[in-house]
Amino acid sequence: MPYRAPVSDYRFLLDHVVDFAQVTQTDRFSEATPDMTQAILSEAAKMTQEVLAPLNRVGDTHPAHLYNGIVRTSPGFAEGYDAIATGGWIGMSASPEVGGLGLPMTLTNAVNEMIASACLSIQLSPLMTQGQIEALEHHASDAIKDLYIPKLISGAWNGTMNLTEPQAGSDVGALRTKAEPNGDGTYAITGQKIYISWADNDFTENFCHLVLARLPDGVAGTKGISLFMVPKLIPDDQGNVGRKNDLRVVSLEHKMGLHGSPTAVMEYAGATGWLVGEAHGGMAAMFTMMNNARLGVGTQGVGVAEGALQHALAYAQDRKQGKAPGSGAIIEHADVRRMLTTMKADTYAARGISMMNAVAIDMAVATGDADWTARAAFLTPIGKAFGSDVGCEVSATGIQVHGGMGFVEETGAAQYARDVRVATIYEGTNGIQAMDLVARKLMDGGDAAFRLLDEIEAGSEAAKATHPDLAEAVWQSAETLRETTEWLVAQSDFNDRFAGAVPYLRAFARVLGGHIHLKSAVSGDASRERLATFYIKRMLPEHTGLLAHVREGASDLMAITAEDLAA
Ligand SMILES: Cc1cc2nc3c(=O)[nH]c(=O)nc-3n(C[C@H](O)[C@H](O)[C@H](O)COP(=O)(O)OP(=O)(O)OC[C@H]3O[C@@H](n4cnc5c(N)ncnc54)[C@H](O)[C@@H]3O)c2cc1C
Repeated sequence: MPYRAPVSDYRFLLDHVVDFAQVTQTDRFSEATPDMTQAILSEAAKMTQEVLAPLNRVGDTHPAHLYNGIVRTSPGFAEGYDAIATGGWIGMSASPEVGGLGLPMTLTNAVNEMIASACLSIQLSPLMTQGQIEALEHHASDAIKDLYIPKLISGAWNGTMNLTEPQAGSDVGALRTKAEPNGDGTYAITGQKIYISWADNDFTENFCHLVLARLPDGVAGTKGISLFMVPKLIPDDQGNVGRKNDLRVVSLEHKMGLHGSPTAVMEYAGATGWLVGEAHGGMAAMFTMMNNARLGVGTQGVGVAEGALQHALAYAQDRKQGKAPGSGAIIEHADVRRMLTTMKADTYAARGISMMNAVAIDMAVATGDADWTARAAFLTPIGKAFGSDVGCEVSATGIQVHGGMGFVEETGAAQYARDVRVATIYEGTNGIQAMDLVARKLMDGGDAAFRLLDEIEAGSEAAKATHPDLAEAVWQSAETLRETTEWLVAQSDFNDRFAGAVPYLRAFARVLGGHIHLKSAVSGDASRERLATFYIKRMLPEHTGLLAHVREGASDLMAITAEDLAA
């Protein structure tokens, strides 16, 4: 089933919902005119539909594998990657000072979504590189920037991120990889990293591993961690690759999905590395890359949800079963219509949140305004967790729409669910995202949250004249969310916050989704109005149950013992 990029949805959200015009009115992003935006979306749509989508199934059935120490990629992936690199899609948001196109992250995000819909496995490679470019831009010395960033932007070299170790997953501070000064300004990096995405391949010249490690005087925990650039092949000053560094891919994981993306165990055996940023300041530098990747991973979820939706819709329009009116296909059954509409409404809400997040990032970059920075920081865990949850839920429902054929691999419905499952786990599990939301992101006393709620309520007020019922429902949901946010901010025992962190994040996403659908409804587009009515009347009410859960705190939850669970 061919993929069709939802360009009209992007345009609609940009123009009517997330106010992309405010981004393009800044000096920083004034080149992103409506014509330029349309050209970018159309070109990316063409590439993803024609070049990348045909690779999705190939990646699943012909996984990346290790042969003679070299990662061999799925057939066609080299050409697919080449299309992404030569199309200029990797560095489109890198700043012009380092050779990028300086375009808004909002546009990169839309392009990344299309690539993820078409072939998630391949998309993870440029996503890692984009994050690395941003981390280097902000934290590396000029020498490292000049040497590495042009190669990363062109796609000649790939970037990876190396945090995880067997004993240090969510708890990055437990890492043991060591960095010893060599006495010449470089460091010897020794340790094992696991689950490293796209750590190697057979189509790019070099691999630039950003590795977290501890210097000899690094204290325990995250405060003693530093960040190092550790290339596979050590380049000279001109960027010509030379001797092989002391690192290797030990093995690749056998995973439930994402087979085309090699996930490596890496061994660093005294490999030569260069410090990026300040000594012991590694987490701050890595966070730049992680925040970029968090936006990207939420968007991966949206992209896969879109692919799964299109797949299921095509099947439901074709499959005949039972006494269905009209076309006689299963789409005419109320329950199948419910599943498909839920898939579409949630994909749209998650896309809107992801775009709001990207707009906030662009506005923060363009204006330096602290409120935009806080908004971007607040939306990042919501976008990451909700986008990836929606990817999982929509692809699972897509299987259900297919009935038995959903369980049969040939239809491709199951691949969406298998591939996207990891998005709720990597880049900080969704539980960790939610804890970040209710702890660090509410440290401002809830300012960023309340400002967002003010905006949702103002939007509802404005919509009351034309859509009183829908507007009232969204306004009420924002009020309930405000009360619960006040309750959370008042909890000094953080376990009371953490016990309801995941339902709180979801409730916030639900309410944001209501806001996005309501704005779409008032634009006068009848089809979007019908979808908004479905979302606001049937899906938004979920927030009340979620928020009731939040306000219960931790005590009765933690009173349930491990023995109770095993009984
Ligand atoms: C396919 C794939 C690709 C990956 N790519 C990369 C990569 O490129 N680079 C990289 O560095 N890593 C990568 N990872 C690693 C990934 O980021 C980690 O798997 C993830 O951070 C979780 O760590 P863990 O697997 O050790 O799980 P754990 O940390 O052991 O977590 C297990 C469970 O406990 C929960 N938990 C843990 N700590 C807490 C806490 N303090 N409070 C509440 N709950 C908690 C978690 O939410 C989770 O549900 C990848 C993983 C996979 C599967």
